[in-house]
Amino acid sequence: MLVLQDVTIASEEKEILNNVNLEFGPGIHFIVGPNGAGKSTLAHAVMSNPSYKTEGGISFDNQDLTELATWERAQLGIFLSFQNPTPIEGLSNFRLIKEALAMGSTSSIMDKLSGFRGLARDLNLPEGWDKKELNVQASGGEKKKNELIQLSMLDPQVAILDEPDSGLDVDAINDLIEQLQQFAAEDKTIIIISHYEKLLKSFVPTTVTVVANGTTHQTTDITTVDRVLADGFKDFA
Ligand code: ADP
Ligand code: MG
Repeated sequence: MLVLQDVTIASEEKEILNNVNLEFGPGIHFIVGPNGAGKSTLAHAVMSNPSYKTEGGISFDNQDLTELATWERAQLGIFLSFQNPTPIEGLSNFRLIKEALAMGSTSSIMDKLSGFRGLARDLNLPEGWDKKELNVQASGGEKKKNELIQLSMLDPQVAILDEPDSGLDVDAINDLIEQLQQFAAEDKTIIIISHYEKLLKSFVPTTVTVVANGTTHQTTDITTVDRVLADGFKDFA
């Protein structure tokens, strides 16, 4: 269970969210909210992005995360796919996976590479995708597909997906939905930030969180999704 207790998140200039109290257990969770409300900020704070100053309690399976670096949180099994994946020159798509899996993995490099290539092929990514530099001169959809490969290969306990649908073609959206359904069946925790109706309608969420007006409102009332899709966020003013 990922728990945020009375969390406040600020950038250098301003407070972005306060009074954040959230619990994410196994299952699918949605996070929605107007543009600029702080959804991505929340996701980054969970991973300890140093751009933000975060106060309050964050724990995972009763382990205090607040003093842990990003990589330590990742090692505990928490994964974030970025809304806007960052290009890193000189680091290939496969190298990232290889390094991330280096600790604690028993499969050989060749098995990992063939697994990677299989996933890239299934997602119709160009030949040689494993050698391409991470998010360098990649289209929006290709970057998102790459994050899907990372998700699949790293196999986290908690996946936070920040607008995973943006830029994906229909086939890739279907792959994404299938993969998330499989994750949910394995009792993992999946947190989806999205407003894309097809994606939201593909799951029955355990909780829905609305981020608005500088704070978060989490509910198990799943009709919130329909209300938001139909009427927007005016009820949360
Ligand atoms: P959302 O994902 O809900 O659209 P964001 O979390 O990206 O919103 O942004 C929330 C607000 O915080 C916006 O006003 C944004 O400009 C601001 N913000 C986000 N990150 C930073 C940062 N690193 N420094 C300064 N302001 C930021
Ligand atoms: Mg965002």
